[in-house]
Amino acid sequence: MKPHSEPLDSKQEPEAKLSPRTWCTRCGGQRLGTITDQYSLDVGFGAPLIVQVEVRGCEDCRRAIHAGAARKAAEMAALRLVAFSGNVNGGTLRFLRRTIGLQSKELASLLRLGPGTISRWENGVRKLDVNVWVVVACLALELADGDDSPRTSRILEAIRAGEAPLQSIVVRE
Ligand SMILES: [Zn+2]
Repeated sequence: MKPHSEPLDSKQEPEAKLSPRTWCTRCGGQRLGTITDQYSLDVGFGAPLIVQVEVRGCEDCRRAIHAGAARKAAEMAALRLVAFSGNVNGGTLRFLRRTIGLQSKELASLLRLGPGTISRWENGVRKLDVNVWVVVACLALELADGDDSPRTSRILEAIRAGEAPLQSIVVRE
């Protein structure tokens, strides 16, 4: 094995990498604090939903330090609002589906529907099945809560798999 003839790492700034940023990368300003980031989201309510997120950002140019995380927080808050709104229509279905990163053909496959059914519902061409909307809202809430294995999709996948039921189980108290 070849001996090390030079240091593996010549850079010696580990502390600089770990310290939180204290300036704005857009304007160079140093007045960082709590700012209000505002998002206008099309959630299917007819008019855009305005979501304000309080985040750490630049007080000079109003830019959030972690803009991606702020937008994500806005979307997750809107998702919870929409799921519990009871506002069943194609637009809210589309918002819920897109926010959890599900393609319409994937959702159709999970629900054992024809490939074009979801888009016909979302576009208002056909009347939406309320029960499907409830299933999608449950799925969205579970994913928003960080559930790695959402029970709603587990149930849907079990139905799709169509396996024979178990004959016995063991329960320990
Ligand atoms: Zn700035």
